[in-house]
Order: sequence, then structure tokens, then C-alpha cells
Amino acid sequence: MDHFLYRDGALFAEDVPISEIAAAVGTPFYVYSTATLLRHFKLFDDALDGTDHLVCYAMKAASNQAILKTLAQAGAGMDVVSGGEYLRAKAAGVPGDKIVFSGVGKTEDEIRNALTGGIRQFNVESEPEMEVINAVAQELGMIAPITVRVNPDVDAKTHAKIATGKSENKFGIPISRALEVYALAASLPGLEVIGIDVHIGSQLTELEPFELAYNKVAELTEQLRSEGHNIRRLDLGGGLGIPYTRSNDAPPLPVEYGAMIKKTLGDLGCEIEIEPGRLIAGNAGLMVSKVIYVKSGEDRDFLILDGAMNDLIRPAMYEAYHDIVAVTEPAPGVEQRPYDIVGPVCESGDTFAKKRNMPPLSAGDLIAFRSAGAYGAVMSSEYNTRPLIPEVLVHGDQFAVIRERPSFDEMINRDTIPTWL
Ligand SMILES: *Cc1c(COP(=O)(O)O)cnc(C)c1O
Repeated sequence: MDHFLYRDGALFAEDVPISEIAAAVGTPFYVYSTATLLRHFKLFDDALDGTDHLVCYAMKAASNQAILKTLAQAGAGMDVVSGGEYLRAKAAGVPGDKIVFSGVGKTEDEIRNALTGGIRQFNVESEPEMEVINAVAQELGMIAPITVRVNPDVDAKTHAKIATGKSENKFGIPISRALEVYALAASLPGLEVIGIDVHIGSQLTELEPFELAYNKVAELTEQLRSEGHNIRRLDLGGGLGIPYTRSNDAPPLPVEYGAMIKKTLGDLGCEIEIEPGRLIAGNAGLMVSKVIYVKSGEDRDFLILDGAMNDLIRPAMYEAYHDIVAVTEPAPGVEQRPYDIVGPVCESGDTFAKKRNMPPLSAGDLIAFRSAGAYGAVMSSEYNTRPLIPEVLVHGDQFAVIRERPSFDEMINRDTIPTWL
């Protein structure tokens, strides 16, 4: 459920007509619903009710300061994957002891900043990284809390580019080698081993792969404890998928996911952390775009939009499907027709959908890409010297621009000319 619904024939974000935002900020733009963000966070928080837990929003999904602040004020921790994300989380008011640092390539500087600024834990992904965290912590006279990210070698059954839990993926330490890696960690004086971390991929649409992985984590917890490690926190990653289509085969609900976690890991007496990103932000955002031209092709018509692959790269990068709707609700019974829906970028890959059935549309009409809140704005670029598009946050009947569209002067003046020119 989200808060983007038609009212009297017009698409709204909560209590604000999309067309009103379009008139104020111009197209294309991203718009997020506060109520949907909070609702999704609460679904996870409630799903783990009764267990000691923290929901750490995986902020790489959508990291605008206003979004982070909205979730932080509701009690969310953050999962960060770079030094920049760490600083963004801190800037949004997230305390260090609610920030978890994941990622395979943490640099010495990033580790130092996080240790001095405060960190809940590092999720360590390799032995060399472990040695560096140890060295930096010792140099600072500190002890770094860590988990080791184990790779459980399970098939997440998702798109290859977002599967992370198979042995051929770059992530984590093979679970078969966990005992020796934990022994190394325990021997390093700058580290304190507190738990285990696992994250097997994104947009998972079944519970089974999670359950396989979490059962392996349960088994490993017992093994590590019997070797003397004080395992007290389990970070279970993110990855629960969202419905991108309105078909019936919706992914499992957070409450079902939570019940499975309690079943597989609930008896271990560990604090549970989860890191959902997509499910919190995905259906809390739309990308709104305008039809520039309708072009008749030989066997199909093209809707040429002012939005493009640089603004929303998911279809080009992951063959992702987005529901695309007209901002003016089609009259009941209106005959739909197939369009190829494309952007103006000079690549054939700049195609959002092929032969998509839509109501008849004309130049100037607004359309909205649903489920664009996660991995949308954060992955945008200025390819073709197209400005990063604005982000807007709605709260009830209010809306605010939370990132402005840069001017062309700003974009051009970011370049500098060498003295010899
Ligand atoms: C990307 C990522 C997540 C979030 O995944 P979603 O599919 O957006 O829930 C969580 N943890 C880690 C370590 C990640 O890399």
C-alpha cells in the first residue's frame, strides 16, 4: 500500500495533486510520500516486536537528508556503505551508535572517520580489511566493534546484478572459513567481535533463500559460541522485495519475514538487526515526467519523455519493470494502446518500456513511474548534460523541494580549465 492514489480523476501524493507539484517545480522530478516511508519502516519495526532489535535503513536506496531525517526521527538506524553515506547519516542527526558500516572496500580514511565519529559496528568483509580496521583502531587507542559478513552460498533467486550471497560474488567471507576468520579477529587487540552479518541480495521475492541463510547463521552462532566468541548481535541484511507490478504474486510481507526470523533465530538470545532499503523507499516514491512528443513509428508509437535513463537507470541497467501511469486518470473503459516509452538520451538503451499499454496520450501530458523511490534518484547522473532532477517530499497537504534542480551555469562551472588553455 502507498499514498499515491487517484482522487476525482487526478493522481495525488498524499493530499497534494501531482500536477500542482509539476507546475511548481517543473518536470521531471522525484516525489516521495512521508506517510509511506514511515508506514514501511513501522512494518519492519512491528514485525520484530518482542525481540531486541534495530531496523537500520539501507540508505543507499534513497539518501536525501530529508528522507533520512524522517526515518531517523521515527527511530531508524542506518546501514551505510561509504564514508560519504556515513557523513550524510550523521548530518541527518543519526547518532553514531545507530550507524552500521557495510561494504567490501572501506578505506583507511573512512574507517578512521567512522571510529572517531562513533559507530555501532563495522561489518567486515575480508581479512585484509580486518587488519586495517584493527590497525586504525589501535592507532586511535580505540576498540572497533565488528561482525564478520559471511557468504552463505545460497541462491537469492534475483537478478544477477543484485545477488550477493553466492560463493562467486565478491561479498563476505565463505561461511566454510568462518571459524578461522573469527579466530583471527579474536587475536587482534583493536577489535571486539560482537556478532555475525549476512546479506544475500536485493529484490528477493521468496522467504526460502533468507531462511536457508539464516539457518546457517544460527548454526554458526552455536559453533562460534562453543569456540568462546561472545556472539550477541545478528545483522541479517536487507533484500526483501517489493511488488513492481500489480499482479497477484506479491513478495512476502515484512510481518511474514519477521515471523521467519523469530522462528529461525529467536531462541539464540541475540539482538537482531535488519537493513531494509528497497522495501522502505521503493514504493514511497514516483518519478514524474512529461510527454514531449508522440512519434509514430512503422509498427508502434513512441512516447518521448523529458525523463531519461540518466534520471532512472533501473530499466536500462537491470531490465527493471516499472508501472507507468497517467497523472490524469483515464476515463473508465478507454481503449489502451501500446507505446514504446523512451527518453531523449542518444542511446537505444534509453527505453523505459516496450509495447506498454497506456491510455492515449499527447504531448504535454504527465505520467508517473511507480516504485521509483529506491535506487532511483541516488543512481541518477548528468549524462547528456541533463541536470539532476529535483526531489520533492510530501507530508499531508504540504510539499517541499528537498533537492533543487541545478542550473546549467552551476553544472558548467563545476569544470575547471587548466592554465594552458
Ligand atoms: C543494498 C544493501 C542492503 C539493502 O538492500 P535492499 O534490497 O534495498 O533491502 C542492505 N544491506 C547491505 C549490506 C546492502 O548492500
